[in-house]
Amino acid sequence: MANTSSRRKRPAAHQRLAAAIAEIDAVLPGSIVVRTMRCGKTTCRCKDDPPTLHGPYIQWTRTVGGKTVTKYLSEEQLERYQPWFDNARRLHELVNDLEAASLRDIEATEGWTGKSCGKN
Ligand SMILES: [Zn+2]
Repeated sequence: MANTSSRRKRPAAHQRLAAAIAEIDAVLPGSIVVRTMRCGKTTCRCKDDPPTLHGPYIQWTRTVGGKTVTKYLSEEQLERYQPWFDNARRLHELVNDLEAASLRDIEATEGWTGKSCGKN
């Protein structure tokens, strides 16, 4: 009886996390790798000392149906889409945090004492 109100109250952490998730309007999967490289020509600026390498080439790699798909982006495209890649990472973190908060919540609600999530 005494702790009914504390049980009922949805922790502020949940609301904060749920609100942060709701603010995310777009996400892009995969990862970005920026490469510079040497070509196959024997006389090229990339063989100079010091070398001027080709690129940078911006590779966007993601998995589609179990296959790795690579697409090259321009710097302008990366600049436009970078927030969406950042959102994907942020969304992942937020979901993890919300999971942890929800687990803590049901452990408290159900009186489970097991610290199986390894927190602390
Ligand atoms: Zn070259």
